[in-house]
Amino acid sequence: MKDILLRITVLALMVLMALQTSAQVIPQPVELTPATGTFTLSSETRVLCNLKSVERNRMMSYLRELPWKMRCGKAGLKMESVVELRKSRLPFSSNNEAYSLTVSPHKAIIKANTDAGLFYGLQTLLQMGTEDGNTLKVACARVNDYPRFSYRGWMLDISRHFFNRDFIKKQIRALARYKINTLHLHITDNGGWRLEIKKYPKLTQRAAYRATEDWMAFCNPQGFDYCTRDTPNSYGGYLTQADARDIVEYAALHHMQVIPELDIPGHNNELFAAYPDLACPGKTPRTSGELCIGNEKVFSFYQDVLTEVMRIFPSRYIHLGGDEANRSNWQQCPLCLKRMKEEHIDNVAELQNYFMLRMERFLRQHGRSMIGWDEILDGDISKSAVIMSWRGAGEATAKAKTRGNKVLMTPTSNCYLDYYQDDPQTQPKAIGGYLPLKKVYDYDPNPDNSSLVMGTQGNLWTEFVATESHAEYMTYPRILAIAENGWTPQARKDYPDFHRRAIRACAYLKSHGYNTFDLTTEKGKQE
Ligand SMILES: [Zn+2]
Repeated sequence: MKDILLRITVLALMVLMALQTSAQVIPQPVELTPATGTFTLSSETRVLCNLKSVERNRMMSYLRELPWKMRCGKAGLKMESVVELRKSRLPFSSNNEAYSLTVSPHKAIIKANTDAGLFYGLQTLLQMGTEDGNTLKVACARVNDYPRFSYRGWMLDISRHFFNRDFIKKQIRALARYKINTLHLHITDNGGWRLEIKKYPKLTQRAAYRATEDWMAFCNPQGFDYCTRDTPNSYGGYLTQADARDIVEYAALHHMQVIPELDIPGHNNELFAAYPDLACPGKTPRTSGELCIGNEKVFSFYQDVLTEVMRIFPSRYIHLGGDEANRSNWQQCPLCLKRMKEEHIDNVAELQNYFMLRMERFLRQHGRSMIGWDEILDGDISKSAVIMSWRGAGEATAKAKTRGNKVLMTPTSNCYLDYYQDDPQTQPKAIGGYLPLKKVYDYDPNPDNSSLVMGTQGNLWTEFVATESHAEYMTYPRILAIAENGWTPQARKDYPDFHRRAIRACAYLKSHGYNTFDLTTEKGKQE
């Protein structure tokens, strides 16, 4: 009888442990098998790591950031608590972010094909733990895991409202925990120019500050008042090149790429405050955001800017926008009309395409590829361009797939983090829309399993997001759903279970200084 009771107790404990373990990790791993016992991570834990040179230094720098300040141990010595990071070929996956994790009472072993995989195994280990004073208690388990998509992103618009280096680095720390591997920075737009360009200092002297913080007061036909930093009540800011390099380096430490976006040929109002002759003749920041495609100087200007941008950002991809240009401006411009005549261009849509093709060619000549919003499909863009689909799984995405372009899925319907996440009556002003956590989570970025879909991303546009705490509020927890959509196989997704894990993740984020939306008081939309 005693035996049976003991067995039942052990079984119940195992089930409890299993629940605890699996109830914690975001994104949900592909395969997680609970085991008995607990591993304790503390400042006494020693690290055994077979990485070499740059990869080793990067891992060690990251480990030093963690609260436990784990030091390297020596193989063969008796140690109470060991984390072993072993780069070696995984039998179950060749994916470069895959890992296996085996947690037993005295040892956690992470194996991966690359150092990125080891990093993600470590994130899973950290998430499986419960903080207990200065230690982390981790229920024993075995995990085999790899991502569904190679691209899992978060976009931050630092033009409409400026967010500085320290804020961006703080977000990198949190996002990496949930295996987001791309930070897309929307750097230039009509809200302000946000990156120092050495060759064109007026960009940050005259176009990085504006007369009012308030978006509605600024963005209207009587507005678009840009100013210098020393103007009384000026609002704005920019990243110096040193700031931007620091962000790139910090992101690399967290196995995250940074993709910069310069939005062209529309959305350039701020540029004309600094260099007015890049607009069509007679146009001003108030009357146009479109570059003059008839003016050869526009091409040399952006090639110079991109040359500096490529020196700062090593990413394979550079985002060149391409969205929402008001093409009617070109129809009235003598220079643009002349260009159309000379180049045998029939209409202004093709004129935009002529511009994008030339810029794309410039990137390719420098070993980079272009990402553009899905409007770039209106023209005959090259196959190497990646389409960022914001208008959804409809026509644009189908067109990209037919033509063989790779696609990143960021539809407004499921990925726009500037939309309301709860009953608008209860929420700070948002741009519109209604996108609660469940709707983000229910999205499948690739229902037909096309090999052209590279991944998915949450976009935080900031017209109505003026403060750091508000930016975090809009991001968390919805980005956690994007993270799971980007990593976890569709069949492993389960909203009630995710919801529980997200509440727990928000508690963790809150305790580490992030302002999150409170899921426990979510009302849902009131019709
Ligand atoms: Zn023009």
